[in-house]
Amino acid sequence: MSLLTIDGVWKNFRDHSVLRGIDLEVRPHEVVSLIGASGSGKSTLLRCVNLLETVDDGVILLDGQDITDPRVDVDDVRKRLGIVFQAFNLFPHMTVLDNITLAPRRVHGVTRARAEERAHDLLTRFGLAAKARAYPDQLSGGQQQRVAIIRALATEPMLMLLDEVTSALDPALVVEVLEIIRELKQSGMTMILTTHEMGFCRDISDTVCFLDGGVVLEQGPPEKIFNDPEHTRTRDFLRAVL
Ligand code: ADP
Ligand code: MG
Repeated sequence: MSLLTIDGVWKNFRDHSVLRGIDLEVRPHEVVSLIGASGSGKSTLLRCVNLLETVDDGVILLDGQDITDPRVDVDDVRKRLGIVFQAFNLFPHMTVLDNITLAPRRVHGVTRARAEERAHDLLTRFGLAAKARAYPDQLSGGQQQRVAIIRALATEPMLMLLDEVTSALDPALVVEVLEIIRELKQSGMTMILTTHEMGFCRDISDTVCFLDGGVVLEQGPPEKIFNDPEHTRTRDFLRAVL
């Protein structure tokens, strides 16, 4: 059974159809990458999954539940998702520990002691134990983005959505963030990610989807998409970015 099923999803902004009938399945423990030119609809699709956008047609099922039903409890859906964006959206006035424990305590009703225990476990696992009491501006960009990923993990999401999480980083800091994502895959986390790091995408993805003008033009295992794409447009895109 799929963890996430996107079925015929359309999204329009005024007279512009940004998503034009997207179908996508994500199975448990699978890593699905969305690639495609800027403006092809990758972020909008992730935002629809997280209910930051409403869809104009089609349905999205999360663990069997239709989350595009207008009666759905949006907070309840978001509780099951972890999302990380390009810009490190840490709260600047809060320590790393407080950033990580805020949602578990406020949204999930976890006790401070339990939330801090889990935060320390995650910080240790990802090599940031020494930074628990630091403020975001005392960290490098790579460390901030690692904290943002840890913060998303702190609520034990069933699905992580990662939108260009390394795009704002200096090249030297990209690797440490990609390492976290690799580790997450090894631990069995289900993820949908968008990235410009094609080597990484090829390594980590079970399925690669090429979006073109709001449609999934083709999808398949990375070997197939990167070595033997069906469509000229996929080939042209890959030639431009590789
Ligand atoms: P990608 O992440 O692949 O670069 P996006 O999903 O950000 O693409 O954008 C897809 C298209 O939707 C672009 O043409 C963008 O300008 C448009 N778009 C995204 N968000 C909005 C919005 N809130 N209002 C109007 N147009 C938008
Ligand atoms: Mg985007």
